[in-house]
Amino acid sequence: MSATIIDGKAVARDIQLQLAEDVRSLARDRGVVPGLAVILVGDDPASRVYVNNKRRMCEKLGMYSEEHLLPAATPREEITNLIKRLNADDRIHGILVQLPLPDRLDERAVLEAVDPSKDVDGFHPVNMGRLVMGSPVFVPCTPAGIMELIRRTGIDLAGKRATVVGRSNIVGKPVSLLLLAQHATVTICHSRTVDLVGVCREADILVVAAGRARLIGRDHVKPGAVVIDVGINREPSGLVGDVDFDEVREVAGYLTPVPGGVGPMTIAMLMKNTILAARRFAYCEHP
Ligand code: NDP
Repeated sequence: MSATIIDGKAVARDIQLQLAEDVRSLARDRGVVPGLAVILVGDDPASRVYVNNKRRMCEKLGMYSEEHLLPAATPREEITNLIKRLNADDRIHGILVQLPLPDRLDERAVLEAVDPSKDVDGFHPVNMGRLVMGSPVFVPCTPAGIMELIRRTGIDLAGKRATVVGRSNIVGKPVSLLLLAQHATVTICHSRTVDLVGVCREADILVVAAGRARLIGRDHVKPGAVVIDVGINREPSGLVGDVDFDEVREVAGYLTPVPGGVGPMTIAMLMKNTILAARRFAYCEHP
């Protein structure tokens, strides 16, 4: 058996077509053009690439975007003052602070300065809290993208066993909550988990977000399982995931590639959240 490869690029393109239509109708019906402001502190080359991709995607969908590129040494007050200005700017519906921030900055304090109604990354405690309570507004983008890829397999999650490897606030925890909301029985693994192979092997749905190249091999995977590889690991040969693709494709029922799986979905979901924020602004549905 060989797994069906889930083409994240194709799914993301499909979503973009719908989003471009949503942008047009919002402009037509309410005269509102969704606007995204991206703040990048420092000059991390990978972050720079992500910020450029976001700008290009905004242009492609007919959205307004602004980039704020700040030197690595920028004091925290200057960053939070910029965020306050953007919070009050009606052209901007979504504010994204590109992570990671330089070590000296208190990431939490910076993220908490973003108005929750413009927090299109979904990392503000208000939006995280809503997710925990089962009534999310802005779902973090990578977890939202993962759920969309799983949805498109057509598999009903109710009663299925789902295992998530990784417990970060960005991926592991929120995706676990989303799987739970779909009535899966969820197990979360991390670096202290005993018998990772055994726990993973019970999963009908296995989501891996550990940041360890090829952590998951054939033995971790139940035959026929859906395996979502979130990992992005840079190796001299190029990008590799947390899943050993060649081994696991022989066992899994569905598998996402790296690159071309979860990655393209993340940016599509960011655009979707920004359009949602603009729609809530246009129709006065602020929290
Ligand atoms: P973090 O480093 O914040 O978290 C990694 C998690 O994996 C931790 O909970 C850690 O456990 C766990 N872990 C590490 N090693 C092991 C192990 N050997 N066995 C079991 N668990 C382990 O990473 P992120 O969640 O931010 O990202 C994870 C990966 O996903 C990275 O490769 C990142 O680049 C990628 N990513 C991809 C995105 C995309 O758009 N495709 C978006 C975001 C991230 P513990 O808590 O105990 O330390």
